[in-house]
Amino acid sequence: MKKGSFCGDDIRAVIAEFYGKNIWRFPETGEPCMEEPEVRFASADDPLFDEWRNDPVHPLVTPREGFSLTFGDAAVFSGTVISWVIPVAEISRRTNAGRGDKPSKEWVLSRHHGEMFNNGLRSFLSGFLEKNGFRAVAGQTAEWWKRFPDGVSSNWSERHAAYAAGHGTFSLCGGLITHHGLAVRIGSVITDCAIEPDRRENSGLFGNCLYLSKGLCGACISRCPAGAISRDGLDRIKCRANLFGEKSKQLAESYGAAMTSGCGLCQTNVPCEFAVPGKPR
Ligand code: SF4
Ligand code: SF4
Repeated sequence: MKKGSFCGDDIRAVIAEFYGKNIWRFPETGEPCMEEPEVRFASADDPLFDEWRNDPVHPLVTPREGFSLTFGDAAVFSGTVISWVIPVAEISRRTNAGRGDKPSKEWVLSRHHGEMFNNGLRSFLSGFLEKNGFRAVAGQTAEWWKRFPDGVSSNWSERHAAYAAGHGTFSLCGGLITHHGLAVRIGSVITDCAIEPDRRENSGLFGNCLYLSKGLCGACISRCPAGAISRDGLDRIKCRANLFGEKSKQLAESYGAAMTSGCGLCQTNVPCEFAVPGKPR
């Protein structure tokens, strides 16, 4: 294919094929650890990215800046942020929903292998675009990616890119409530391949969260074993301490996963686990 010839469905097909060949499956059942990604597109020049660039505390790199930092100021750029959401497998959600203090083995394995798949997809899609005459960079793995001094947020946010692409809205517990709910992993690639952006039908920044839009719910608060969620939102430092503490590392090791077990209790057994509350998936 020649430069300029991709539409959104071409990219969706390429990602679906990569998923079919590379997703990790539970050895006992052969079920995939994550469902097939939903892929959407945002214009790299969406004004939202400039708004987030001007955040006084956590200024995000815009797609245009990210491209320039990667390829130099001369980079010609009129591009797209390709954003995907990968839903966690039902077995992992179901088993985690039954837990109250630490995540289930299936959840931990979905998280571990799901993020390996997510990273593989970032790299594969960038390479695919480059082979076809475009330039591409994944913000999450770019050389310019960095954490802010608070240790919990960074200058590229997969959640913000997904919001811009219309996957969903932000929530009380800090995740993005997508069409597949909160229990997802998220990734993206910035490219100079111009693809028609998807229409964003989000009802405001927090429209999908029952508490932040209507003052109802708050179920995620009591799900958190670390007390990291309150009616004021998520304490990312408390959450991270739970996710990356010694117990979490030991649990991950006992399940055959690397680094950390994660947790995700606030993403399961809540009304926004696998869909926008009150809406079909
Ligand atoms: S559980 Fe309720 S309050 Fe928490 S993020 Fe989901 S919808 Fe919002
Ligand atoms: S991931 Fe776990 S520790 Fe972090 S907010 Fe959710 S329930 Fe709490």
